[in-house]
Amino acid sequence: MTLRTRLALVLVALVLVPLVAAAILVLYAVPRAADDRAESLVLGARSVVTNEISQMCDQASTAAVVTGRMLGSTSPATATRRAVSDGLAEWVSVIDERGGSVASAGQLNSDFITEPWSDCADGDAGGPAISTELQVVVADEADLSAVRAADPVDTALLDDFRARLGFSADVVLLLDGAVMASTSDPEVDLSAIPDLAAASGVDGGVVANGGITAAVAPAVPGMPFDVVVATPTPGSGLLVQTVFLVALAAVVVAVVAAVAIARDLTGPLEEVTDAAEAVASGDLTRSIEVSRSDEVGRLARAFNHMTDELLTYVTELEGSRDALRANFGRLGDTLSATLDLDTLVPVVLETAMTSVGAHAGLVMLGDENGGLTVHAEHGMRTRSLAVPDAIVVGDGLLGSVAATGLTARGVIGSTPELHAGPAEPQSGSVLAVALRRPPHVFGVIALFAPTNPHGFDDAAESSLTALAGPASIAVENVLLHDEATRASTIDQMTGLWNYRYLMTSLNREIERANRFDRSLSVLMLDLDHFKRVNDTYGHPRGDTVLREFAARVQAEVREVDTVARYGGEEFAVVLPETTAAGAENLAERICAAIRAQPFTADGTEIPLRVTVSIGGAVYPEHGTSSRDLIHAADRALYSAKEGGRDRWAMAVDSQQVAER
Ligand code: GH3
Ligand code: MG
Ligand code: MG
Repeated sequence: MTLRTRLALVLVALVLVPLVAAAILVLYAVPRAADDRAESLVLGARSVVTNEISQMCDQASTAAVVTGRMLGSTSPATATRRAVSDGLAEWVSVIDERGGSVASAGQLNSDFITEPWSDCADGDAGGPAISTELQVVVADEADLSAVRAADPVDTALLDDFRARLGFSADVVLLLDGAVMASTSDPEVDLSAIPDLAAASGVDGGVVANGGITAAVAPAVPGMPFDVVVATPTPGSGLLVQTVFLVALAAVVVAVVAAVAIARDLTGPLEEVTDAAEAVASGDLTRSIEVSRSDEVGRLARAFNHMTDELLTYVTELEGSRDALRANFGRLGDTLSATLDLDTLVPVVLETAMTSVGAHAGLVMLGDENGGLTVHAEHGMRTRSLAVPDAIVVGDGLLGSVAATGLTARGVIGSTPELHAGPAEPQSGSVLAVALRRPPHVFGVIALFAPTNPHGFDDAAESSLTALAGPASIAVENVLLHDEATRASTIDQMTGLWNYRYLMTSLNREIERANRFDRSLSVLMLDLDHFKRVNDTYGHPRGDTVLREFAARVQAEVREVDTVARYGGEEFAVVLPETTAAGAENLAERICAAIRAQPFTADGTEIPLRVTVSIGGAVYPEHGTSSRDLIHAADRALYSAKEGGRDRWAMAVDSQQVAER
């Protein structure tokens, strides 16, 4: 059953229960009251009528007494005439001992009088009249024996009674159980009256039967008729009909009102429910029209606010999901494709910041000194967060992460583990994980300034940990690749570039010099009489000399210059943007640097005097290819050797050599 139906039923019940109770009460009590009222009315009326009749009986007696007195002084004819004219009775008569009329006056229908003569004082009536008789004894008139007086009882008299009752009733007089007289135009069925009178018993009383309520008074001395005052019993049919119609109308109104109220109350709820279902099935644009200011209106407003917030949240979520997806896509591409740390590390950092939700961060990688150096940072300076140049493993917060490989998370300085080193950010939240392949740790990703106001949570930590795995593999790959690359371009014994790298570097520099129209010089170096060193002191000592030689040469050149071992005890130096004068200057310095100090091999060996011969060539004067340039420098070197060694010579042109 729906809420609306339940509500409607409750409302209908609330109206109907008292209504039905009231109807029952009315249907029960009102007829009762009406019956009671009818009973008391007819009883009252009966008293009025019996009193009137009793008075008429007294009046008739009085008329007889007065007439009897007059007989002593006047004739019967005069006495009777005078009594009637005085209005003592309608009819007066004087009778003799034989019962014959001596004199009479007034009009009386003979039907009214019966023989034997009835006397109302005895409770008897001979017909529709009040009649009385008085025995008289009159001196000198011995045959006179009685005076009779009578008043007719007819419809007019009863109508007169009725007029005085104050309500509509019929007055019926019964004589010997039959209707003797009644009011005109009776409302009740007169034929039922004798039975009603009989039913009332000898003492009379009120009888209600057959739609008639009647009060009956049996004849008594002084009141010679059975008196019945009858009125139609108040009908309850109209009342029942009225009550039924009112109740029906009330039921209809109640049902209509209940349905309307229930609809009014549940309609908005249905609307909210529909909208909630729409939202649940994914339609976040659904809203409810707010047309009311009551609780339902509040609900609608709250609902709309909720869907707005939800929509904003979902939109943001989708945005960050797309960003994350794009970042992970880029990260995946970068991890698998790049072998360049400068490309890889910023992408790792950016992805970490996006996936975790951080405004700032940095990535540090292990350096050749055994410490950590920043390889990428983002947002640190704009948020006034310190960026450490380098960190010693084990020192400070990031150094501890690098040393232990354990993740650090929380408010900086809040615990001993989160104690920051002097070069590190001193406050705010941090989340730092190690880049590692156990047991090696080769870097740290550290994130600061979380977008979440509550700091970095568990989800952030697991995201970063998940990211650190593949990032570690990728970084390690790059480091291994760099190592392999270096191994293939480095001369193991001296640490200088090898022949392969020399040629790559020289070709690159020739191309650059050509493109930017810059000069470029090459020096070829060969140790003098090196065979003797080997022969005299042994090959290992020769190696030591070669290493020390390499270091001394390296110390003389600029950063941009490339010093390489050409082969054996021959070396080459590529000098970008260097003219012949610059090359000569350097050649002179190298010769001096080698000559100046005996080679001691860290003071552990016998000091050894070593010299070097150098040949130089300049691009493009002495050659435009690496091969030609090296040949030109080689020829100049040969010329220096020829010239007595421990000296340098420059190629003069592609064939000649200028010696020093
Ligand atoms: P010159 O002044 O004419 O150059 O005389 P030299 O003895 O230096 O020339 P030569 O080319 O005859 O000898 C080069 C020697 O350098 C031969 C070889 O044993 C030595 N040598 C080459 N490579 C190495 C090396 O890696 N270690 C050692 N210890 N000796 C090497
Ligand atoms: Mg040589
Ligand atoms: Mg040599």
